[in-house]
Amino acid sequence: MPYKRVSSLLETDPWGFESQDKFMNAAVMYELDLPKGYNPEAEGLMILEICKDIERRLGRTGKPQYDEKGERIYTDRPIDIDILLFGDNKIDCDELTVPHKLMYERDFVMVPLNEIIN
Ligand code: ADP
Ligand code: MG
Repeated sequence: MPYKRVSSLLETDPWGFESQDKFMNAAVMYELDLPKGYNPEAEGLMILEICKDIERRLGRTGKPQYDEKGERIYTDRPIDIDILLFGDNKIDCDELTVPHKLMYERDFVMVPLNEIIN
């Protein structure tokens, strides 16, 4: 599927953990041809599955890890594809929250996103 817009690459230090490795961040915009009256949650979950499939094919393995307080433990990973926005849709189910819950706190998300959204 051809993308509509892609940001430049932004190199950053890890967020939420220490590592010698850096992260490369980018935002991509796709235009989808969806029928009127589509179900945002069902479509969103399908898009999430496509993202996870690409992650697996690029070598990502394992499930997210949590500490004893239930806080997410972040580690190095070959790739992480998140859904930031999906049109004007709001989705809040077990596997998917859109707009992405933490994006507004993360410059490494907002800087590339701003580049393609305006
Ligand atoms: P992170 O993106 O925080 O590094 P993961 O990629 O391991 O963590 O994602 C953990 C889970 O977050 C996924 O399995 C997915 O079900 C869920 N999730 C909830 N909202 C979103 C979203 N907007 N984009 C991607 N994953 C999401
Ligand atoms: Mg992710």
